[in-house]
Amino acid sequence: MSEQPIVVHAIINGEKVETEKTYSRENPSRPDEIVGYAPMSSREDAIRAIDAAHTAFATWKWSSLDERIERMERAIQKLKEATPELARLLAREHGKALYDAMGEFAVSFMWMEYACNTAKEVLRDEIKEHDGGTTIISHDPIGVVAAITPWNYPISLSTIKAAPGILAGNTMVLKPSPFAPLTVTKVIEIIANEFPPGVLNVVHGDADVGVELTSNPKISKIAFTGGTKTAKSIIKAAADTIKDMTLELGGNDAALVLSDFDVNDERAMRRMVISNFLTAGQICMIAKRVYVHRSIYDQFVEKYIEAANKWIRVGDPFDPNVTIGAVNNLGQKKYVQSLIDGAKSRGAKMIPLGKVLDEDVFNKGYFLQPTLVLDASYDDPIVVEEQFGPTVPILPYDDEEQGISLVNNSIYGLTSSVWGEQNHAIQVAHRIEAGTTMINTAAVQGLDVRFPFGGVKQSGVGREYGEEGILGYTETHVINAPKNLELPYIPE
Ligand code: NAD
Repeated sequence: MSEQPIVVHAIINGEKVETEKTYSRENPSRPDEIVGYAPMSSREDAIRAIDAAHTAFATWKWSSLDERIERMERAIQKLKEATPELARLLAREHGKALYDAMGEFAVSFMWMEYACNTAKEVLRDEIKEHDGGTTIISHDPIGVVAAITPWNYPISLSTIKAAPGILAGNTMVLKPSPFAPLTVTKVIEIIANEFPPGVLNVVHGDADVGVELTSNPKISKIAFTGGTKTAKSIIKAAADTIKDMTLELGGNDAALVLSDFDVNDERAMRRMVISNFLTAGQICMIAKRVYVHRSIYDQFVEKYIEAANKWIRVGDPFDPNVTIGAVNNLGQKKYVQSLIDGAKSRGAKMIPLGKVLDEDVFNKGYFLQPTLVLDASYDDPIVVEEQFGPTVPILPYDDEEQGISLVNNSIYGLTSSVWGEQNHAIQVAHRIEAGTTMINTAAVQGLDVRFPFGGVKQSGVGREYGEEGILGYTETHVINAPKNLELPYIPE
């Protein structure tokens, strides 16, 4: 379906700003269709946005929490009204199926509403009267926050930052990814319109603008979601001015299937398939490698293929029968294909999964045949690297110790999952090195915005979602009025 390309602008101090350069965003399902144009902001634009946010902070930090919540709730209402149209735009620029784009909006609203409903409780001053006097612990805003987001879940990963950031009294400059810049700009525009100029700004571009946002002395916090390699550059760029940071990074999440997992549980098997292939595998917390106890390995693979062939239907995001859309960009498609080709050349067996609904669309777009990988070695790149695409290796293990050590043998530790009898699985879960371990489910199916989310090891620093996801946008300020004003050990 061809529609007129849209044009989005940077938003600086409440105004839409034209830039000298723009770039086009194509539809990954039909790459010869331009979905829209986004500005290519310069470093100077970024500086102007940071200055606007810095000026706005001086007033906004004193605004009442009631006012912030009221404005955010109005923004949520307006976003909800715009969602059907925005979700269509997201599906067109991203490549994900329409139901999946709607789902991304639904998760965003769950979080934004949670943040509004709990902000008063979470951000309240804690007043402690104790033996030593009176202590008040307050949660002050930090300052100007640079929010930098990736392409895979552009709406939820922007609102996950904007809602708590602004509710806590900060001002923000957000930079979306050039691979999905259009819908998120519309979303931020709707939110920004409900707040005073300068509270929420958007600039576009890539590393150049990113470097300004992460090194400028007026930025006090960086909230980044993206790749681990990019995060390493960000840490270096921020070093001179020591900034607060939340880093939500890459993962190579494992699913560990215990010997007591019921391979005949069709619902569980379907959840496993979805946890490997939703959004064509382009989710940080997708289960990207599956280890199955050898005693049930052959039956597991057989039932897995059956379930996958039932659920996976690849095609145009607007076809209501489609469960998996396109890969977001050509570079990503080539990367995932190279991992599959590499593993094959080293002796792994490839099994195509699911149905391609429209060969013509499939051949023209950035689609990949979902692929199960068997007989790969434990250290093959398709097992060790974050594939971020529609492929998954399933590997056998012999005993639980080995299974746990295979899961933990990774530089990453974002989420993970254990599948089997619930109490047994929970016991094993305690031994997994990850920010989240889900039992008998995985990926977004097991996500609950009320609880903290984030990674250990090179998967990140800090947490989003839950109370921590709000407190992460505050500085703890202790106001201490001790009873005994002088210390006994200090001589007269
Ligand atoms: P990316 O790191 O390439 O880009 C992320 C953002 O950083 C983009 O906006 C990009 O323009 C910007 N950027 C690039 N270079 C920069 C620099 N030098 N300084 C500042 N900003 C810079 O990631 P991507 O390819 O867009 O997204 C995929 C990655 O994101 C995967 O690794 C995935 O696991 C990760 N991710 C993590 C989570 C999580 O919650 N942990 C969620 C989603 C995605």
